[in-house]
Amino acid sequence: MKSFEQLGLAPALLKALEAEGYTTPTPIQQQAIEPALAGRDVQGIAQTGTGKTAAFALPILQRLAAIRKPTVRGGCRVLVLAPTRELASQIAESFRVYGKFIGVRVITMFGGVPKGKQARGMASGVDVLVATPGRLIDHMQDRTVRLDQTEVLVLDEADHMLDLGFIIPIRRIVSSIPKERQTMFFSATMPKEIAGLAEAMLHDPVHVAVAPAATTAERVDQHVIFTDNAAKRAVLFDLLRDVATGRTLVFTRTKHGADKVVKYLEENGMPAAAIHGNKSQPQREKALAAFRSGQMRVLIATDIAARGIDVDGVSHVVNFDLPNVPESYVHRIGRTARAGATGVAISLCANDERAFLKSIEKLTRQRVPVMNLPSRMSKAA
Ligand code: AMP
Repeated sequence: MKSFEQLGLAPALLKALEAEGYTTPTPIQQQAIEPALAGRDVQGIAQTGTGKTAAFALPILQRLAAIRKPTVRGGCRVLVLAPTRELASQIAESFRVYGKFIGVRVITMFGGVPKGKQARGMASGVDVLVATPGRLIDHMQDRTVRLDQTEVLVLDEADHMLDLGFIIPIRRIVSSIPKERQTMFFSATMPKEIAGLAEAMLHDPVHVAVAPAATTAERVDQHVIFTDNAAKRAVLFDLLRDVATGRTLVFTRTKHGADKVVKYLEENGMPAAAIHGNKSQPQREKALAAFRSGQMRVLIATDIAARGIDVDGVSHVVNFDLPNVPESYVHRIGRTARAGATGVAISLCANDERAFLKSIEKLTRQRVPVMNLPSRMSKAA
């Protein structure tokens, strides 16, 4: 295994990594950094939580620093496409953090915030633009963004882009970028449409892949509590109060369900907030910031809203509802156990969810041990 230095990273980046407390490259970083530094295209199969953002951001920053160029009006040297505003914000933040001793101009562009401010941000050009496809297309139509000077393109969470119907906008965006470029493409899974998109975008890529989803499950200490739907909120409250839960992410299947859980916890004196599709951007940001800073210990989220949330140190994941798609379970519990850490996942399973539990156990090839809770649990069940 090589160190960051042995992978060829410059001192300004090593200093930033040290400040972040990163001591060893993660497997995806081991595989991707060297070829990316050499200018190769990269096709990566990796989920969020594997360290993939640094795997592409570090070589890009090194390239920006090595070949300084003036930016052009409305232009960006690097374009990163991400499916959601949360993920876009986090990627931009990573570029800022890793690039703090280099000095790079990074901006984000996504829906839900005024276009004018974003256009002004682009006026003198930027080094790195992180955008969601829909809003970027708007700006291209307004001619506030041009991509004819872009040297590096990154597509992150490509399979999620497909789910959100972004494939046609992406093809349009890619066709506006010069063919002479470096392209990096990341996806957790590689369905046929995504493989086709990769093929069209990449030139002689190196293929890098890290452990498939199912093995994430091996690092997480998992439990299931059998209960009925009516008792779930009380069980959750007891869990959060009695069991040594730290920073806890609670998943619900629906937005309405998420709001009901927040209301119940707050009525019982436990601060909590929800993030889901019906929340405004400022509301989401506020909730995430409070959770990140540790000011609020519990965050309730739906699957879609939680994708791409990057919060270090989530110690517990609670599945208030079991997902009907077993892969979602693996995604959810992967929110803890980030970058090699271990974590705990507790699922509340009602009678009508037992079939979901069966298919989860089949996918992960593990039995989820049953957990009994003290106090109200026994009375409620
Ligand atoms: P990502 O897969 O890019 O979402 O990264 C997952 C998390 O791992 C982020 O919170 C990073 O801050 C963290 N991380 C990335 N690389 C390393 C590393 N080499 N050592 C420790 N933590 C890391």
